[in-house]
Amino acid sequence: MTNTIRVPAPADFHVHLRQEEMARLVVPHVRKGGFSLAYVMPNLKPPITTAALALEYKAQLQAIDPSVEYLMTLYLSPDLTPDDIIKAKEAGIVGVKSYPRGVTTNSDGGIESYEIYYPVFEAMQRVDMVLNLHGEIPSDPLTVSIHVFVILSLSPIQNTCVLNAEPHFLPHLHSLHKAFPRLRIVLEHATTRAAVEAVKACGPTVACTITAHHLDLTVDDWAGQSFHFCKPVAKYPDDRQALREVILEGHPRFFLGSDSAPHPIDSKAISTASHGCAAGVYTAPILLPLLAHLLESFGALDRLEGFVSTFGRRFYQRELDATDPEVIILQRADAFVVEDKYEAEQVDVIPFWAGKRLGWQISSQ
Ligand SMILES: [Zn+2]
Repeated sequence: MTNTIRVPAPADFHVHLRQEEMARLVVPHVRKGGFSLAYVMPNLKPPITTAALALEYKAQLQAIDPSVEYLMTLYLSPDLTPDDIIKAKEAGIVGVKSYPRGVTTNSDGGIESYEIYYPVFEAMQRVDMVLNLHGEIPSDPLTVSIHVFVILSLSPIQNTCVLNAEPHFLPHLHSLHKAFPRLRIVLEHATTRAAVEAVKACGPTVACTITAHHLDLTVDDWAGQSFHFCKPVAKYPDDRQALREVILEGHPRFFLGSDSAPHPIDSKAISTASHGCAAGVYTAPILLPLLAHLLESFGALDRLEGFVSTFGRRFYQRELDATDPEVIILQRADAFVVEDKYEAEQVDVIPFWAGKRLGWQISSQ
């Protein structure tokens, strides 16, 4: 039985590092969770829409923990021009993230249709920037008014809700890939068998991130448990099985993006009739041990290095060379218990698997 695993420079290709006090609490957890590269999401308030804002944010993150490499992204919005893309590329910005309007945290400025962005995508393809897709379409609008028949006749029911929002998005992935075959596209945090198959059917420029928590959760786990609620929501057991299978297969276009997304306890645990709970699962401080634990549970421990290091780094052209000294050592653990919460003065955060035991921990040597 393996008791020690050496993982070269784990990289998390989708993480939310927030702002101000929350950032000061959670940024050090990237390193604590075993990671030395963070692909940083731009959905701040206000969103990161220019290269200048991205560089300012990167400097704030570096001031908190300079030992992590931060790869920055822009938030796709109608204000973004092909010229901005060229400037962003020159400034070292790696990708552009698209959020469908209103689907997740701070996505009110998200997109409604992709065609208007084609000149931006053309520029991204030319300068080789990555398009990161939150692959869900918005749910059908509520049709509870007395004008229901009028509304229905104007906008036919799509039957879209959180359970099928991702499969309903996949035709957009295919048309984007067809229109821009050389544009590197990442379908973020896939949760369904349909998404896995769609990405597999695309060419080498299309990849897919998978979170740790979607390898564990299904619908039953978040229905009634707000700390397991995230977007996209975890789906059916067969969908979770598809995510596990593609990791077992060692498919090089499927790699880790944790979507680790901290929210203050009072926005997760308190929901009222007029206010639901925030979407997001917080995995950063335990990420590498959690992944080793989960991958081992379905017989994929030998795929850990590919999933958390090699495959994503290759797609993002951040491959390690032989002289890179960064190696994280995991040791088998009898009683590594996940902390109940992480506290700062004004914000507390509850991590995924709080109080539960993990079979692996990061060695301090
Ligand atoms: Zn995210």
